[in-house]
Amino acid sequence: MLQGSALYKNNNPDCPYSQQLAKGFSRLKFDPQLEDQYRHQLLAGLITQHKLLIGIFLMLWIGLSGLDILRFDLLDHPEQLSEHALNTLALRALCITVMSLVMLILFIPRLCPYRPGLLTAMQLINGLAGAAIICLSKREDAPQLDSAHLLTVVIAFLPWGLTWMQSLMTALTLYAGSWVIGDLLLQDPQRADYMRMVHMIPMAIFISALGGYLRDHAQRKAFLLQNIMRWQAEHDPLTNLANRRLFNEQINRCLGLGQREGIRTALVLIDIDHFKRYNDHYGHPVGDKALIQVAEILQQESKRAMDLCARLGGEEFALLHYDSDEKSLRNLLARLHERLKLQAIQHANSPISPYLTFSIGAAISDPGESAAELYIRTDKALYSAKENGRNRSELDLRCAPQAHLRLA
Ligand code: GH3
Ligand code: MG
Ligand code: MG
Repeated sequence: MLQGSALYKNNNPDCPYSQQLAKGFSRLKFDPQLEDQYRHQLLAGLITQHKLLIGIFLMLWIGLSGLDILRFDLLDHPEQLSEHALNTLALRALCITVMSLVMLILFIPRLCPYRPGLLTAMQLINGLAGAAIICLSKREDAPQLDSAHLLTVVIAFLPWGLTWMQSLMTALTLYAGSWVIGDLLLQDPQRADYMRMVHMIPMAIFISALGGYLRDHAQRKAFLLQNIMRWQAEHDPLTNLANRRLFNEQINRCLGLGQREGIRTALVLIDIDHFKRYNDHYGHPVGDKALIQVAEILQQESKRAMDLCARLGGEEFALLHYDSDEKSLRNLLARLHERLKLQAIQHANSPISPYLTFSIGAAISDPGESAAELYIRTDKALYSAKENGRNRSELDLRCAPQAHLRLA
């Protein structure tokens, strides 16, 4: 049976997600635009998890601070506050403050843009403060659980929204920092004892990094497959143009945005003339090739971010141009006919021309007009173009007195 990735492996050369899947991502990095989209989507879905994780760690540190207060017997004898107890509690307070601030930022994002760098800094402060607390306790021969420090590198590979490389760098920095802190604060034999634990950290990093790599790879693959499926649901498999579903979404988006911004959208409907005769004469496979050629012409006229060209079905296509006016629309229609003429696709069975032609209906949206109203108007213009002899454009300007102008 075919695996998911084999099934989708670049059978859609226009789909950026298929391209990326075919190219691979063993370095856990997509092409820049996809990488941005992936990271954005990943971070947006992780905020709740981050609140939960930081909440758990916050409780843990508050609990450990409570244990320290009991351990140092500060409730009954606050006057016995030693330098060791003071340093330990100050380090715990630092971590609790940092985590509380990060938590506050997660709840009120406008305080500071949400950045994974903030979470990295929090992990480094917690990890290095943990190492310092262990060393301080060791210096006093006080009981401590230094092996728990190994968990700090495991934590770096939890889903914080960091890239795998960022997690690895955080873990390695914690390793180096733990080493330096032990070297500065301890003398033998405690130092040798502490370093035995520190030398276990690379092993913990290796295991956590392996798990992190596999998780990131699986997440990226799921992202690509999910988007390939969405792309396939929104595109026509023959021409790779948008299909009617995406066209419907985009026309509503253009009209909605245009209503707010006072900007008009041009809708252009294109129907190939006597295409049934073309198929009858040359056969369906050649007909398919002609449809692809027409789609390429439309794609050349759909370059701006909000533009869209779609195959609505059969030999009918649509072009949406956000922010259009009569002059640019007339130029566009003239260019479309010109481009098809340059292709000179033979149509020996056409009663109107020796070459393949199309008829076009076009209209510019009026303020407050719905997608259905604009579509009906444009379709009527297309019908007029067919009625008036085909291989021409009709433009419905509605407000203009000379509506249904014949153009070609
Ligand atoms: P008109 O000038 O009035 O538009 O005539 P027409 O023949 O183009 O229109 P009609 O609706 O009668 O025929 C459309 C043809 O489009 C019929 C069908 O064979 C062809 N067609 C629809 N989808 C495809 C396709 O995916 N591939 C091919 N090769 N032909 C298709
Ligand atoms: Mg038709
Ligand atoms: Mg037709």
